[in-house]
Amino acid sequence: MSPKKVTIIGSGNWGSAIARIVGSTTKSFPDEFDSQVRMWVFEEIVNGEKLSEVINTRHENIKYLPGKTLPSNVVAVTDLVESCEGSNVLVFVVPHQFVKGICEKLVGKIPADTQAISLIKGVSTEKKGGLKLISEEIKEILKIEVSVLMGANLAPEVANDNFCEATIGCKRKAEDGPLLKKLFHTDNFRINVVEDAHTVELCGALKNVVACAAGFTDGLGYGDNTKAAVIRLGLMETTKFVEHYYPGSNLQTFFESCGIADLITTCYGGRNRKVCEAFVKTGKTMAEVEKELLNGQSAQGPLTAEEVYLMMQKTGLDAKFPLFTAVHKICAGEMKPAELVDCLRNHPEHM
Ligand code: NAD
Ligand code: 13P
Repeated sequence: MSPKKVTIIGSGNWGSAIARIVGSTTKSFPDEFDSQVRMWVFEEIVNGEKLSEVINTRHENIKYLPGKTLPSNVVAVTDLVESCEGSNVLVFVVPHQFVKGICEKLVGKIPADTQAISLIKGVSTEKKGGLKLISEEIKEILKIEVSVLMGANLAPEVANDNFCEATIGCKRKAEDGPLLKKLFHTDNFRINVVEDAHTVELCGALKNVVACAAGFTDGLGYGDNTKAAVIRLGLMETTKFVEHYYPGSNLQTFFESCGIADLITTCYGGRNRKVCEAFVKTGKTMAEVEKELLNGQSAQGPLTAEEVYLMMQKTGLDAKFPLFTAVHKICAGEMKPAELVDCLRNHPEHM
């Protein structure tokens, strides 16, 4: 079988960090992978230069991952369709609000046997009031099978080659798991593959909502005990949410990197935590603090909280998920951040 061609769709903070790994593994396994990895870049001008040209000449994403060298076999391509032409493996890694538009441009251009994997933490923004996973959205539009990779993976630390773990969720574990593991598994990025893909993906999406709550408590000046309570109650709500929408998930999956580990890292070191802390401390809007603090990067928690709230409200579940509900209401300006702890104080877990 000829070596598989890989395309990374996205070149933000995580997209660029993962490009360092994929650029390296594809070179290490020449029988399995073509050594050239194409990376779709949403073109923009940075300091008077085209970002794609900077990546292709200086091998650095100066806007989204400055200071880190990208492997020279990772090639920036600005035409989305061209970047995917002839590819056998697609790695989706863009902020979730852009997924639908991207996939629609690729309709009819992706062969049915293409393997795809989503590294995107969020839920579809298209199904207001119902749940659609990002992997389901991609599959529905492009008619290809989609696995997921989630984990405790703050991109700057991964780009420093600091040791961490991640979880791949594959519905067709025996068929898709081995190649995908080969593509991402390194000495410092250790992969476990599980079959419970929807749990893996929902852990990744919902931890961003919990991280917002952690940021609010940081902004309010509470300490680590409060944050630990937020993490625990957030985990309880996550398990209940998954059980409600996908009954029969495996409890063990919540102990993988995608579960408890990602909750911890994001609630201490993530962008969602950071913008939500600043939201409380400065009184500025979420959009303002995101713009001021993230330089074009995106915090997915507030948008995910809104989608999740609409789903819960439609099915009358919002009272059972006070933390998720409070995060949305605080982000939307319908509740004061200081009221968060009252919601937690009366949590169903305490009754
Ligand atoms: P990011 O937050 O750095 O977002 C910036 C990216 O969005 C840039 O590539 C930019 O070109 C692109 N973009 C902006 N406008 C666009 C448009 N109109 N259409 C298409 N693309 C546009 O992105 P990221 O950090 O790579 O995150 C991607 C996904 O990975 C998210 O779901 C995130 O939750 C997840 N994730 C991020 C991290 C992390 O530490 N950054 C870690 C794990 C998972
Ligand atoms: P933030 O988007 O909050 O930075 O979280 C990154 C992440 O997903 C770490 O695993």
